[in-house]
Amino acid sequence: MSQSVTVTRDANVAIVTIDNPPVNAMSLHVREPLEKAIAGLKSDGSVAALVLACAGRTFVAGADITEFGKPMQPPALWDLIEQLEAFGKVTVAAIHGTALGGGLELAMGCLYRVADAGAKLGLPEVKLGLLPGAGGTQRLPRLVDPSKALTMIVSGAPIGAADAHASGLVDAVYDKDLIANAVLFAKDAVERNLAAPVSQRNDRIGNVDLAAFDKEIAGALKKSRGLDAPRACAQSVRNAITMPFAEGVAAERKLFLDLVVGDQSRAQRHLFFAEREATKVPGVGKDDKPSKIARVGVIGAGTMGGGISMSFVNGGIPVTILEMNAGALKRGMGVIDKNYGISVSRGSLTEEAKAKRLSMFTTTTDYADLADCDLIIEAVFEEMAVKEQVFTTLDRIAKPGAILASNTSYLDINQIAAFTKRPRDVVGMHFFSPANVMKLLEIVRGDKTAPDVLATALAVGKQIGKVPVVVGVCHGFVGNRMLGARGAEAEGLLLEGATPQQVDKVFTDFGWPMGTYQMWDLAGLDIGWRTRKSLGQTAAISDALCEMGRYGQKTGKGYYLYPDGRTATPDPEVEALILEEARKQGVNRREISDEEIKERTVYPMINEGARILEEGVATRSSDIDTVWVNGYGYPVGQGGPMFWAELEGLPKIVDRLDYWYGKTGMEVYNPSPLLRRLAAQNKGFADAAKAA
Ligand code: NAD
Repeated sequence: MSQSVTVTRDANVAIVTIDNPPVNAMSLHVREPLEKAIAGLKSDGSVAALVLACAGRTFVAGADITEFGKPMQPPALWDLIEQLEAFGKVTVAAIHGTALGGGLELAMGCLYRVADAGAKLGLPEVKLGLLPGAGGTQRLPRLVDPSKALTMIVSGAPIGAADAHASGLVDAVYDKDLIANAVLFAKDAVERNLAAPVSQRNDRIGNVDLAAFDKEIAGALKKSRGLDAPRACAQSVRNAITMPFAEGVAAERKLFLDLVVGDQSRAQRHLFFAEREATKVPGVGKDDKPSKIARVGVIGAGTMGGGISMSFVNGGIPVTILEMNAGALKRGMGVIDKNYGISVSRGSLTEEAKAKRLSMFTTTTDYADLADCDLIIEAVFEEMAVKEQVFTTLDRIAKPGAILASNTSYLDINQIAAFTKRPRDVVGMHFFSPANVMKLLEIVRGDKTAPDVLATALAVGKQIGKVPVVVGVCHGFVGNRMLGARGAEAEGLLLEGATPQQVDKVFTDFGWPMGTYQMWDLAGLDIGWRTRKSLGQTAAISDALCEMGRYGQKTGKGYYLYPDGRTATPDPEVEALILEEARKQGVNRREISDEEIKERTVYPMINEGARILEEGVATRSSDIDTVWVNGYGYPVGQGGPMFWAELEGLPKIVDRLDYWYGKTGMEVYNPSPLLRRLAAQNKGFADAAKAA
């Protein structure tokens, strides 16, 4: 363990190297020897300068996140940073890879920072529901300016070396030989007057127009719906302007401690680990090597096929799109062109980059052109007969070993796999709309899907920036199946006394971007209507809306009116329709409380999640949370439905499910045996495997 910090010498420069794979986190077994090394070098008269560097692929990429929520064992990171500032001689941080969070805070404890040209620097704590708690919010504004610090800390997004150099965060950038150059930089600095420690540099925070800065804060917080951490981050950067350093640091620490014990940060840390955990798939081991995906084929250039194709091209993989005819191809490519055009007009893509991306698409109506694809994903109509036709053709033309994937939302992957003579290569790759934006990728594992096929799907998913979660076969998989349970009472609630706006407000107050009816209006009410008709089912209110031509946003009317095409406005005509339907069905409408709405929407969805877990369709409850946060806009501050359910209390949920089951007899309320057992034993979902 002592080797996690080593000291070497180049004349009067000591090079302190941290070596704590994989990312040089500032764990206790790094902090202890680092403190000793700093103290030893401070009193060593032969040392004129200290270069702080890291071995391996990166500079310190953060604090040790497993220590969050526990008292930090001394020496704390902030102590080390103070010791660096009090070193009294030249200190230079030599940054390669990523200097993130505690890593960047440590680097800001040095008098100088130099970086490799490929380095990235940032304070991403906000993404874990925290703020940088080791002086980062006080030192960064002193190095860059408060506006830049505000943007970096509230967004958590890292910046590149060139940007860091231009804004004053680093003092020099080198294309190669970082350590040798850092030593030369240090030797040169020894010859000059010693710079002031960052905590004492006040020139960048001295003359800030506070009123203007407060406006910037309001702007920066616009997107942080209901989250505490971005607000605390902004407040703390503001404190750097209004308070002396020591006071600002004390306030920062207090804000950090408040956040770290709060439910929101616990939820966000849970999600951080959940996303990493999700890629560990039972039965898929180190020997199951992902194969290279050099070209992807996409069948269908509709809503999903277009978005899926864009995702691969954006991730650097060329795509061949196949459609039924030239007209459909033209229409599909037109939408893709328009979408890239929007990115250009927003400034997030250059014209050249757009042209480059468009050049990575090949279009065809001939299946033979898919023969060189390593992965082929179909996004054709959601009908088994059409899927059958596509997969039997693919079986004939795809090269051996090519992965054959379906983007189906509900259909049985095993049945689809059986259309081919290579079911080991067939897998579900379920993207979410809009597919070029939404992060979630449900990878549906068929009975015969091979482990190396899953490994490849996971790897390529990550390569194109998705959050992949492997799930089992069932109607709707994890996400849509739970969504079905959430909406099972959508008609009942309206008939019994609620309004769409009341129900949706319960959701938006909770932090969802939109409620059930707004979501349906966005997706198009006609989709469900068509499905119901094919299954011989009815939904009085939704059917009536469709019969009136009210399909949702696309027709300007659905459960709401959309006078400007986007903003949901309550419609008296819909309320009248609901009242009329209730009268016809002999339902006496009554006041419905927000609590009841929660019990009749969210609780059934939790119950369905428990069933999914019990059946092994999801490997772990945190996978379900990952699905909901990345595919359905579940508020991150609430940690996902299963995490939230434990906060709400499983016994309470079972109790109320029993109540509603007794009252309605609806299966969605019938508590899953697993949920009942965990509640009775006062356990959480993490104990599910043990309780089974
Ligand atoms: P869509 O109607 O927008 O597009 C389907 C496209 O497939 C059309 O352009 C059609 O011309 C083409 N097509 C149909 N049969 C074909 C064939 N035999 N060969 C080549 N092209 C063919 O539909 P969509 O919304 O993109 O859905 C496609 C699939 O994705 C469905 O399985 C659906 O369940 C699934 N899905 C949809 C969503 C969503 O939100 N829309 C989300 C996830 C998954």
